[in-house]
Amino acid sequence: MSSASYVSPLNRVRCLVAPLCLRQLANLTAMSGGGGPAVVMRLVASAYTVAEKAGAIVRKVLHSGELGIVEKTGADDLQTLADRLAQRSICASLSRRFPKITIIGEEDLPEEELQEDLIEDGQAEEILLKSCPAEYSGLKEEELVVWVDPVDGTKEYTEGFLDNVTVLIGIAHAGRAIAGVINQPFYNYQLGAGASLGRTMWGIPGLGAFGFQLREVPGDRRIVTTTRSHSSKVVTDCVDAMEPHEVLRVGGAGNKIIQLVEGKASAYVFASPGSKKWDTCAPEAILRAVGGRLTDVRGNLYRYDADVKHMNSAGVLATLRNHEYYVSRVPQSVQRALESR
Ligand code: AMP
Ligand code: MG
Ligand code: MG
Repeated sequence: MSSASYVSPLNRVRCLVAPLCLRQLANLTAMSGGGGPAVVMRLVASAYTVAEKAGAIVRKVLHSGELGIVEKTGADDLQTLADRLAQRSICASLSRRFPKITIIGEEDLPEEELQEDLIEDGQAEEILLKSCPAEYSGLKEEELVVWVDPVDGTKEYTEGFLDNVTVLIGIAHAGRAIAGVINQPFYNYQLGAGASLGRTMWGIPGLGAFGFQLREVPGDRRIVTTTRSHSSKVVTDCVDAMEPHEVLRVGGAGNKIIQLVEGKASAYVFASPGSKKWDTCAPEAILRAVGGRLTDVRGNLYRYDADVKHMNSAGVLATLRNHEYYVSRVPQSVQRALESR
């Protein structure tokens, strides 16, 4: 697996805020000190529509029936046509509008001529209208790193567990996850024909998270969510050590963070080096935006600098509340097993 940094030579000048009324334009000017929306807000507004386009690609490939499955490191590590097309769409669309950002995508794709119909150049206007947290308002394009998982939960996508699938676009600055967008392409698919499919969630710590209703698990129940397709003895030992009332085994890092913020799970516990920075950057930002935490199993934050190791070697532990409890329950043997990686 490798990464690619996309720098497009075709940076076109576009109208930033197409049909906004005068009052909205006045708001924009006021919130940004006269220079238009902050780069971070513009990037999130673009990432929102780009993630929606990627979600539409993921649905279209499924409906075509030709998934184009390729094994990467093995049968549990797959790439499909949806992963390839969605990554091309996301990276090309963002790099065209933001030529100086570093974009790191999961899939290792050969250079090829870009299909123009993969480009998305819209921006979510409701995001442009929000105020950027002061600490991020002066950030420059070249300081930002974007982590892209074009299809999170590919294994589940190929097996028909469609609500497990998400598109993840995370934004990092100075090594920290500062914004995230998650599209869930098959949200509502159980409702059958006629239901409006898909939704997009986004968040920025210090501003908030949007596109879902924040809920907590009722009472003091410990509902642990973990992998369904990448388990091991260490993974299950760690889950058991949490003394859970219930264990959910579902696919996708994005999907498990959605379970945390929607009150379906209390902790995401994955004592394995299998997940990567593109799996956790967007989820961590959204979780932090609602007061949650995502760390390794020892409670340490991951960094998201452009040159960081991709593997989350010390596992993942994410919670909306009571993070310390879950960290305190991780057995020494599990910590040792992950240390040796
Ligand atoms: P899971 O919870 O198993 O769906 O994993 C969350 C994310 O981490 C998915 O994007 C997986 O593809 C990735 N992942 C976890 N474990 C592995 C592994 N052993 N090999 C490859 N990818 C993995
Ligand atoms: Mg993934
Ligand atoms: Mg993926």
